[in-house]
Amino acid sequence: MMNDKLSNPQKTIEIIKKYDFAFQKKYGQNFLIDAHVLDKIIAAADVGPEDFVLEIGPGIGTMTQYLAEHAREVAAVEIDTHLIPILEDTLQDYDNVTIINEDILKLDMNALAQEKNQGRPIKVVANLPYYITTPIIMGLFESGVPVENITVMVQKEVADRMQVGPGTKDYGALSLAVQYYAEPYLVANVPPNCFMPRPKVGSAVIRLTRHKEKPVQVKDENFMFRLIRASFNQRRKTLQNGLNNCAELAVTKAQVVEALEKMGLPATVRGEKLTLEQFAQLSDLLS
Ligand code: SAM
Repeated sequence: MMNDKLSNPQKTIEIIKKYDFAFQKKYGQNFLIDAHVLDKIIAAADVGPEDFVLEIGPGIGTMTQYLAEHAREVAAVEIDTHLIPILEDTLQDYDNVTIINEDILKLDMNALAQEKNQGRPIKVVANLPYYITTPIIMGLFESGVPVENITVMVQKEVADRMQVGPGTKDYGALSLAVQYYAEPYLVANVPPNCFMPRPKVGSAVIRLTRHKEKPVQVKDENFMFRLIRASFNQRRKTLQNGLNNCAELAVTKAQVVEALEKMGLPATVRGEKLTLEQFAQLSDLLS
């Protein structure tokens, strides 16, 4: 089996040629060709014989082979119809893999988790199509799919944004959203030469372990996220100026100033200085 693994450039080229496969840029197709990186992903995701794993975008099945060897069961969701016969070929030796030809953004992941894992927390592993990284991750968190952890290859800058705290240039709405739901851990930085074709950007593997309990309590979650988005929409503005007149929130400058004062923050503070806890506090005062 080891010799048949796809995780090297020769084997990948062989499959591409055999099926006369044309890479589709619009689907973010950059296939992994580095066994080392794959080992790291599997180890970080902590995939074991009890686990059901959802793989998003299996491509030609390179990572799927690794997952199938470690997990109890794998469901691999691939949008590109041209890849389905290839996957049926490269995964023919595994009886614990289901290939689903669908758009992950349209799939009922709750129903899948229920069917395959009786609603117990699943693991999600993917070398993500970068053009839909945020909707995929936020969709997993917000839809309430039972998830234990999400281990994904993303664009390096996005991995940075997910894990930084206040006061840095990468800190923003994505950092706060991710950290509200999960604990991020940077697994590895991955250079373009680990993929075929090579992406133009650097990549990184990040693991998001879902919090068992939310790190902050907030009265109106939805309002807090609107507040967060509004605060970073106008990054350079102070909160009192940026939030004032924001149609989505309906709060006045005076209300913002009063709330900040209650929190012991200067009236001139910018959103990039506030922790998640402070956003939750501010949200409770304004909502
Ligand atoms: N897992 C493979 C690997 O590591 O070699 C391929 C990863 S490639 C970066 C991303 C994969 O996601 C491609 O196979 C692409 O066709 C698929 N994809 C893109 N958009 C998708 C969507 N909306 N739903 C499901 N799969 C998608």
